[in-house]
Formats: sequence, structure tokens, C-alpha cells
Amino acid sequence: MSACIQDLKAMLGEERVVTDEAVLRLYDGFNRSYEKSFGVCMTVPPVAIVFVESTQEISQVLRYCNEHRINVIPRAGASSAEGLLETWVEGSVVVDCTRMNKLLELDTYNMMATVQCGYPLEELERQANQHKLTTGHSPQSRPLAMMGGLVATRSIGQFSTYYGGIEDMVCGLEAVMADGRIVRIRNVPRRSAGPDLRHLFLGSEGGIGLITEVTVKLFPYYPEHMWMGGYIVDNIDIGFAAIRDVMVEGYKPAVIRLYDKSDMDHNFGSVKLKEQEAFMFFTAEGPQEISQGTGAGIDRVARRHGARYIGTQAVEHWMEHRNDLCKTVGAEETDRRHRETQVFYATLEISASWSDIVKIYRDVMANVPGKIENLVMLGGHVSHSYINGTNIYFVYQLKMNAPETSEQEQMALIRAICDEVIKYPTGGVVHHHGMGKQRVCYARQEHGSSYCLMEELKRTFDPNQILNRGVLLSKE
Ligand SMILES: Cc1cc2nc3c(=O)[nH]c(=O)nc-3n(C[C@H](O)[C@H](O)[C@H](O)COP(=O)(O)OP(=O)(O)OC[C@H]3O[C@@H](n4cnc5c(N)ncnc54)[C@H](O)[C@@H]3O)c2cc1C
Repeated sequence: MSACIQDLKAMLGEERVVTDEAVLRLYDGFNRSYEKSFGVCMTVPPVAIVFVESTQEISQVLRYCNEHRINVIPRAGASSAEGLLETWVEGSVVVDCTRMNKLLELDTYNMMATVQCGYPLEELERQANQHKLTTGHSPQSRPLAMMGGLVATRSIGQFSTYYGGIEDMVCGLEAVMADGRIVRIRNVPRRSAGPDLRHLFLGSEGGIGLITEVTVKLFPYYPEHMWMGGYIVDNIDIGFAAIRDVMVEGYKPAVIRLYDKSDMDHNFGSVKLKEQEAFMFFTAEGPQEISQGTGAGIDRVARRHGARYIGTQAVEHWMEHRNDLCKTVGAEETDRRHRETQVFYATLEISASWSDIVKIYRDVMANVPGKIENLVMLGGHVSHSYINGTNIYFVYQLKMNAPETSEQEQMALIRAICDEVIKYPTGGVVHHHGMGKQRVCYARQEHGSSYCLMEELKRTFDPNQILNRGVLLSKE
């Protein structure tokens, strides 16, 4: 490997190939945060992080790594979880895209913005807002995530019911394939020219190619017209039924969220629920006629289900603090809390049809606590809804036995939940974080008889398996 590192240094310059051990141990960002709090590192660190600055350089680096069979992990904002950035093979190189951070075009007439893969989403949103436009993309990780990573994880934002997920926003992109070829998917509004090649890269988890440029849609922005409303319902089943009716009757809220009591007590101290109660809230956006009309429709549906309107205070609180969790990522306070309490907090997002989701929620809440002896909290909320179903973000706390075993302890919980999900015909074990290396063990079951196509994709586009080994395909 030392010869390879010398070659990479010759290619990019000494300063852009980092081999400092302390830096390498922290390379995978948010992943394994519990272990890291104790100074433990159970993965094999990469041998180098290389900072690339152009598509041509990425092409050179990938061609070199392909020839020498070096595993490459693309990295952007490093906010992903699920082990997406972890190294599974020795001698891996992280290709850091954060210096690919240019805004290439903000086209306010054709409503598209083109950026390099390391452009921060928060900055793009700020630029768009200056023109009274929005990207419509607002994941909780907005202050951390970058455009290449957002595409590669098939991310989704908090206002998704109105604007869609990243797959509804990407117009075109440029990428470098494992062998160094540079490909571009042009920004055509819609095309019927065979399968949609954008989808090769959406959710590719760094395992198909390295995305270098992304063009996304822009939307008009009317924050002053936002409608919001918060409601308490007698139980979560009523909440599921109400949000289903909102969607099925044809309304397009921006935000729909439904919290059970455990999640509520953890996240929203301001609203106190009785044992079986649930809290739901909605926002509506767009030109005034649309947002106010949508709001009126939502209110009518909610009250028909017996929901009690509690005003907008809790919703405003959520709007203001909705991304605060980002401040805890990598923070000394989080590390201290881990060391003092041995309690680790995490989430797991799944999805299913309207009829299966209710059963999945019940099964998880009934069966998982009995299987996981160190579970101290389990709850859930809905945050992304569709006409044919919705998601649940399960939230949990585990009292870890030891940092060295914390990954296995978390995996036991992940398996316990996913086993309850996958047994339903419409249960999907990953709604938007990507399978990463944690949930990839479910890839065969998730894809069923179409899993062979994923194997073919990987064989075709990365025959030497140099791109983020461990993602997309189940480890045998
Ligand atoms: C507090 C918090 C809240 C979150 N909330 C949400 C949420 O609301 N919605 C959501 O969808 N996700 C959420 N996430 C998960 C995560 O932030 C997103 O998945 C985000 O898209 C990752 O972007 P990133 O730039 O940080 O990518 P990274 O973490 O750097 O990388 C993510 C994956 O993409 C690959 N990759 C990175 N750059 C490229 C590239 N240029 N080309 C090809 N592959 C690449 C990596 O190899 C890796 O597999 C959250 C995470 C945190 C920590």
C-alpha cells in the first residue's frame, strides 16, 4: 500500500493525501459514534483519505484504484449512518469530495441549479432563497449533508409530501465510473428513452460510480403562506387512519407527522400525552390559495376522526428546532453522555402500505422489547406519507454492555425490528437512509426475485468490486 500512497501523492500532491492515524480513525463521521466516544475503533481504518478537486482527478484516481484493486469509499458530508462509510476491507481509500464545492449554475428561468458533488445543501438552499426559490429538499441533516451524498443515499426531506424525495428533484448528473469513464445524464425535463439512468446513481451508496455534478429542480418559495396545525388523537390507529384519508382524498401537505407517546416524551417535552394518545401535525405550503385550501381540507379530515386541535405552538417549536440533532453529531457532549450513561440513541426508518403499517407498528411494539434485554426506550413517528402508504421512524435507546460489542448490540435490535417488517408483503426495511453495511443483510429479502438484477448491476459497473465494498449486495 505504501507504493500506492506514494503514487496517489504524486498524482494529487502531498497535502491532498492524508494518512494521519488520528484523522483516519474518525473518517467515517457519524458511524460507530458510541464506540468512538470510548476511544474504541472496531473497524479497519482506511489507509488514506484523498481530497479531490475535479472530475478529471476523480477519473484518474478511480482508474488507478481499479487497476490496483483498491477499495474506494466516496465521502461527502459524512452525515450518513448505517455503516455507509465504514471500511470492510483492508487497504481502503476514502475519496473526499468536500473540495468539489462549486455552484455551477442557478438558472432561475428554467428552475434548475447545478452544483458539484461536495456543495452543501444548506448553502444551495440559502442561495435559492435569495431568489425567493427553494430546493424543497430539507432532510434533518441539511446543515451537514452535501449534494453527492444526498443523491447517493436516495435521501428525503421533511417537506417531502409536497416536494417529493431527491429522486423527484434530480434532473441530471455527471459521474465517474469505476474504470475512470466520465458519463453525463443530460437535464431533459422528461424522457422516454429506455430505463431512467438517473436511478443507477440515486441510492447507489457509492457502489456504482462517483457522482461529480448534480442538477436539481428549484421551486417557488412562499414561507409567508405556510399553514400549520397540531392535533391530539385518542390513539395512534386513529392517527394512521386520519393521515391516510388526508393523502387519499387528494391533499398535498408539506409535512405530515404522527408521534406515539414514547417518541413524543423524548422529542417534544411541550406536549404531554396520556398513555394511548398520539400527536399529529401538518403543514401546507405553496401559493396562498393552495396552502390555505390544503389546510382547511386537512383540518376537516382531522376533526372527522375526532382529532383535537391544539394550535400551532408545538409545530412552530418543531419548525425551529427540527435540525438541532445535527449539533449533537460528533459533539463532546454526546461522547460524555455515552460514557456517563452507556445509553445510545438511534433511529430506524421503514415503510409499508396503509394496512400493513399499522400491523407492523403493533408487532414491533409488542415483540421487540421481549427480545432485546438492554432496550430502555422504543417509540416511533411517521414523517413521510404517500397515497399508498407511509413510513415509520422507530426511535430507540439501548443501554450498551460495552463499546466493543455495541455494534452487535445495535444489530440485534435492527434485526428484531426488520424481521417484523419484512414478513409483510409491502414492508420495506429501509425507507431513506440507505442499507449501508448494517441493513444490507436484508437486501435479498428486500428485493426478492429482483435481487439478481442488483448483482448484475454491480458486476457490470464495478466488475473488480472497488467501489464501497459491503454496500448494495448481501455479504454471504
Ligand atoms: C442528524 C441526522 C439527521 C438525518 N436526517 C435525514 C433525513 O431527514 N433524511 C435523509 O434522507 N437522511 C437523513 N440522514 C442521513 C444522511 O444525512 C443522509 O443520508 C445524507 O444524504 C448523507 O449525505 P452526506 O453528504 O453526508 O453523505 P456521506 O455520509 O458522505 O455519504 C453517504 C453515502 O453516499 C456515498 N457518497 C458520498 N458522496 C458521493 C459521491 N459524490 N458519489 C457517489 N457516492 C457518494 C458514500 O459512499 C456513502 O455511501 C440524517 C443523518 C443525521 C446524522
